[in-house]
This record gives sequence, structure tokens and C-alpha cells, in this order.
Amino acid sequence: MKNFEQLSRRGFVRTVSVGIGALTLGSLWPFKAAAQPSKKLGIALVGLGGYSGGQLAPALQQTQHCYLAGLVTGTPAKATEWGEKYKIPGKNIYNYQNFDSIKDNPDIDIVYVVLPVSMHKEFTIRAANAGKHVICEKPMALNVADCREMIDACKKADRLLSIGYRLHFDPYHQEVMRLGQKQIFGALTSFEAANGFKWGNNPDAWRLKKALSGGGGLMDMGVYTIQAARYTTGQEPIAVTARQEKTRPDLFKEVDETVFFELEFPGGLKAQCKSSYNNNWSSLKATAQRGGFELNPGFPYNGIQGKSSNGAISYPRMNQQAAQMDDFAQCVIQGKATRVPGQEGLKDMKVVEAIYRSLANSGRRELV
Ligand code: NAD
Repeated sequence: MKNFEQLSRRGFVRTVSVGIGALTLGSLWPFKAAAQPSKKLGIALVGLGGYSGGQLAPALQQTQHCYLAGLVTGTPAKATEWGEKYKIPGKNIYNYQNFDSIKDNPDIDIVYVVLPVSMHKEFTIRAANAGKHVICEKPMALNVADCREMIDACKKADRLLSIGYRLHFDPYHQEVMRLGQKQIFGALTSFEAANGFKWGNNPDAWRLKKALSGGGGLMDMGVYTIQAARYTTGQEPIAVTARQEKTRPDLFKEVDETVFFELEFPGGLKAQCKSSYNNNWSSLKATAQRGGFELNPGFPYNGIQGKSSNGAISYPRMNQQAAQMDDFAQCVIQGKATRVPGQEGLKDMKVVEAIYRSLANSGRRELV
């Protein structure tokens, strides 16, 4: 990521906010902030499925620095329904074919890719080439090579790229980062994380097709546990071992159902993680020399509960997605790096690939 000055000098932000952030930038800021009108950045959601409809569009009704300005969908009926519901003008509604003409639309500053994993790379690159900043949902892409292409394309187009890791904006997870990384209870001696849900009987979903998803529970749910292990320790795993279990092999013909994996960290800590499409798991637990902490449930949109050796961990209810998108909008406005850049997705995908290699090699230890 380029530093702020480089980004600003290149006219990184088309429209400038006079928010507190802009005013505090002082001499680095290329415009006279006070003379600029305040503006919320426009976000276009690409893919109007469960996550866009259930979480992102509602969150965008609560955001301070961005708003739902555009839609990209392959389903004409959704264009009409969503357009009416969210009062999106027809000129801001695109399909997958005419999407590239979004480059001429000044209402759209940020494109948020919320599609099956196999489509993340294409739409991230097309969005960056259209001059838009990009948020791409997790898991970032089918593989490490695709992650690199996405990062390179955004860099070349001078656009910010972020991955939809909502938990970095949740106070419970921020507290876990603090307790772990600052070693508040001493060095970690153990770490466990589990995430999964019980898949119904739908065999046709894209999540079960390897070409579309890249993998099963590990790609979808396991990345949260990899993230948690990485941000609790503040370290990068160096090696992994893994094994898997399939209770419904007919349903999980192409992708993993339940995966148990161990991440080995440089200091010797071994994180025990598991992901599943067969178990309703959602927890993380860390033990340290002088105490410990845990979240259970650990990964939902709301309702996380936590405790540490110092007592209950408790925060007021908030909206993770609104906080995440507002933070990204401020990064764009202020020309600063996002805390969840493409590199974060790439690092997780390196771990995922090592886990799949271990599974393919009967649980052999694989370097990340
Ligand atoms: P979904 O199946 O509900 O929606 C997918 C959308 O993509 C639909 O609108 C569908 O019409 C469209 N689509 C376009 N081409 C398609 C194709 N060939 N096959 C299937 N659908 C196609 O999925 P979702 O749950 O909204 O997930 C989308 C992305 O968001 C995934 O990357 C997923 O991992 C991510 N997600 C993230 C979170 C989170 O908490 N960050 C939560 C849920 C989903």
C-alpha cells in the first residue's frame, strides 16, 4: 500500500469530506478541507443474495460515511424490487454485462463484491479497472494466485482493496486482539477456535460446487478461525496439519464438510481449529501463562459473549457491517490504509491452501 501522501497527490479521492479525519490531516491534505462539501461515499453492491439482503443493505441504512448508491445483479426482478425498496435510480443499476460502464458513474465510489467465491477475482479487477475502490467478501478468492492478481490490479489502478472481515470492527474481537497480542495474561499456551453450521439438504447450492466455492466449510467458516488465530497471536502460522470427516459424503461430494486443523506458530504455540458444514460451532478460547479469555458464541453478527480471567467481557450492541463499511469509506476519504487489506485475505488463503495440501497428503505437516 502506498503511503498517504502518494495516494493523495494522485487525486486518490474525487470528493472530499470535511469530517474530523480530513481536518486532522493538516498539511498532508491536498485540498482546502473547509471549502469542500461533505459527502457520503456511494457503495454499489454486486450480487444481491443472502448477505447483501440480510446484512449489508440494512447496515448501509445506518452508516455515516457511505450509503447504498448502486446495485449490480444478474436478475432483472431483483433490480426492480431492490431499486424500489432502496430508492436506487435506474441509472445506478447494472447487470454483469454492462457493469464496466460504472466507470462513468460519479455516484459510485466503492464496489462491494458479494458473489460466489469464483466470481470475486473477476469483479474485483473489473471494479478497480473502472476506477472504483473495492471491498471483496471472504474468502478472498479460489486460491493464492488469484488473490495476488486482485491485489496487483488494485495497486495498478491506484484503488484501495479491502476484504469483508467484519470482526476486525467488533469490540469483542478487538479485545481478543488486545489481550492476545499485548500478552495481558502472559504468553499464550493454547488456542482453540471452532466455526460451522449444520448444512440442510440443498445439494445444488454454489457453496457445494468446488468450481464456484473453492472448497466447503474450511473456505466459508474456517477462515474465521484462521483469522482469529492470526489476530489473537499477532503472528503468522508457519506450518499446518489437518484431517477431515464426512458424515454425508453424497452431499459433500466436491467439498469438505468438517476439517480439523492445527496451526503451528513460530514460538511453538499450536492453535487447534475446526470448521464445519455439519456442526453449529462458534467459539474461540485462549489460555495464557496467567489466565485466559474466550468468546462463545464467538463469530456471529451479534450476540457474541465473552469472558476473561478478569471477568465478563461485555460491550453494547453494534452493527459490525456498518462499522466495517464506514471505516473503509473513511480510509478512502482520508487516503489511508485499511486494516483489512487484500493482503489479509491472501495470508488466510495461503493457510487454507496448506491445509488442503495436508488433507491431500494424509495429514502430513505442510509448510504455509
Ligand atoms: P448467496 O448465495 O446468498 O448469494 C450469492 C449471489 O450471487 C446471489 O444473488 C446470486 O444470484 C449471485 N450469483 C451470481 N452468479 C451466480 C452463480 N453462478 N451461482 C450462484 N449465485 C450466483 O451467497 P451469500 O451468502 O450472499 O454469499 C456471498 C459472498 O458473501 C460469499 O463470498 C460469502 O462467503 C460472503 N458472506 C460473507 C459473510 C460475512 O459475514 N462476511 C456472510 C455471508 C456471506
